[in-house]
Amino acid sequence: MESTVASKLEALMRLQSIDSQLDEIRRVRGDLPEEVRDLEDEIEGYEVRVRKFDDEVAGLNESIAQRKQAIKDAEGLIRKYEEQQQNVRNNREYDAITKEIELQKLEIQISEKKIKEAHYQIEQKINEIEGTKNRLEERRKDLDNKKKELEQIVSESEGEEKGLEQERESAAQDIEERLLSAYTRIRRNVRNGLAVVTVKRDACGGCFNTVPPQRQADIAAQKKVIVCEHCGRILAGVEQRVY
Ligand SMILES: [Zn+2]
Repeated sequence: MESTVASKLEALMRLQSIDSQLDEIRRVRGDLPEEVRDLEDEIEGYEVRVRKFDDEVAGLNESIAQRKQAIKDAEGLIRKYEEQQQNVRNNREYDAITKEIELQKLEIQISEKKIKEAHYQIEQKINEIEGTKNRLEERRKDLDNKKKELEQIVSESEGEEKGLEQERESAAQDIEERLLSAYTRIRRNVRNGLAVVTVKRDACGGCFNTVPPQRQADIAAQKKVIVCEHCGRILAGVEQRVY
């Protein structure tokens, strides 16, 4: 079946009307879907930080345990050396052992210093992560609220949206491929989502620039698809002035 320009324009108008209603539904949802996604990303970032913190604290605790063991080992050696010192045969042997004991005491001092540092680092990290954990908790609550809000809005318009999407599918089937892709392209490029408009009060219904009388006559004749020379929208008809 060959479709006339008039029926093509009519089909485009129908599609535009459906798309405008879908636009309105999505406008009501507004930035909520994006806000939900942003919050999910932010939360994931905090969770990664908290996991990293747990690993770092575990590492510091591990090094504290190692240092404590090193202190015990050094104390054992010192006891052993002190016993040996009781049975030395000369001053040289005595001095040599004294040096070994001093070395082990130094080892203990170093370990104690490292343990202190590790405790301090853990404390710092706990302070640091406290803020992150608080923010994480807050953001989780925000996300919960936003999700509920979004679900509420979506559930209110879900049925209508599904119906419109089905209508859209069948309306789009009535339009030839070339015209449909032009329509899609124009819609993408205009701010209000209107790709098909009429001439109202001698002006384009999309950009409000004046449409000359001869062009209006051509549009009204519906012999071919005419676009606005200013904004590129399809001009589907002329609404007669009411005097
Ligand atoms: Zn225009």
